[in-house]
Amino acid sequence: MGIFGKVKGLFNDKDKSKEFAINKVDNSDSKDKNLLSDKQKLGEGLKKTKKSFFEKLAKTVAGKSVIDDSVLDDIEEALIASDIGVETTLKIIEKLESRVKKENYLNSNELNSFLKEEIGTLIKDSCQSIPNISDPYVIMVVGVNGVGKTTTIGKLANKFKSQGKKVVLGAADTFRAAAVDQLVIWAERVGVEIVKQDMGSDPASVAFDTVQSAKANGADVVIIDTAGRLHNNVNLMRELAKIRNVMGKVIDESPHDVMLVLDASTGQNAIEQAKQFTAATDVSSIALTKLDGTAKGGVVIGISDQFKIPVRYIGVGEGINDLQEFNKQDFIDSIFS
Ligand code: GDP
Ligand code: GDP
Ligand code: MG
Repeated sequence: MGIFGKVKGLFNDKDKSKEFAINKVDNSDSKDKNLLSDKQKLGEGLKKTKKSFFEKLAKTVAGKSVIDDSVLDDIEEALIASDIGVETTLKIIEKLESRVKKENYLNSNELNSFLKEEIGTLIKDSCQSIPNISDPYVIMVVGVNGVGKTTTIGKLANKFKSQGKKVVLGAADTFRAAAVDQLVIWAERVGVEIVKQDMGSDPASVAFDTVQSAKANGADVVIIDTAGRLHNNVNLMRELAKIRNVMGKVIDESPHDVMLVLDASTGQNAIEQAKQFTAATDVSSIALTKLDGTAKGGVVIGISDQFKIPVRYIGVGEGINDLQEFNKQDFIDSIFS
């Protein structure tokens, strides 16, 4: 999307329409996705994933009376195609094999409930609220370009603010001209403080100023934006380490949360980025964006299974309210409903 589209998107005031919806359920606008509950929005967002996942599975088992090796192969293929990832698929298939050995026959309903249960054990429930500490709680957001870091920060700031928390944003993506402006727009829109310097300034210095100012002003949460970086660029990864270290000078233990943002619509690429980033730096949580409109939502299952890192938030749209705390049961219910 071009810059104009982006800015236009930012100014669609979706909060108002939500408020409005409470009294006017039968408004002709009711198809507007901002009037949907979180669960409905998740269901909408996962529609394509669900379709690709189950249509493939249904075709696989249609008319089969026995699940033999060739059907198992087809199921394996369907799972891999839904972006669950090879490692996680193999785990599921192994369990399915031993189950089939015992029972010999599984109809498609039984297959569905088997998968639902299995996937339930693979995904970890992972969203916790921010712990109450005396200093501001510092979240540093990392990831490659374009995955949705800045947008997720805006949505998160809005979430925290609506919980009554005092939020300060740090514009430590000083690399691209528009990056600081983009975060400023979000800060204004949400109504939170932002600390920034000029483009090209030292991101560690911005992070330092932000945490210092947040501490002095008794803020509850600090969210630091960073420039998109390639996990395999040594200098950029070193810069990340430097940004982390200076914050620790102001508040011990900070950053408390290093949040890796991944774009779910890139499927296996997202899994690859998670591998590389977690190898290069300590990542403590994951936000998976752009689950809306992709058929690759199965990637949530693979990421949750393969990394010992909680998927904490999911992005289901570009709007300010389109960030949800990841809830395993809601997610599973949505793809199996
Ligand atoms: P950054 O480079 O990582 O900071 O990414 P941005 O926050 O600038 O986002 C890049 C694009 O992804 C923007 O057009 C966002 O509106 C879009 N985006 C971010 N999160 C989501 C999401 O959950 N769903 C959709 N559909 N778009 C998103
Ligand atoms: P160095 O710049 O390579 O020596 O790395 P440091 O870890 O010492 O600092 C990184 C950046 O954070 C610096 O360029 C400063 O802008 C900022 N910084 C670190 N310590 C301080 C400090 O005590 N005061 C201020 N204002 N900024 C600091
Ligand atoms: Mg950005």
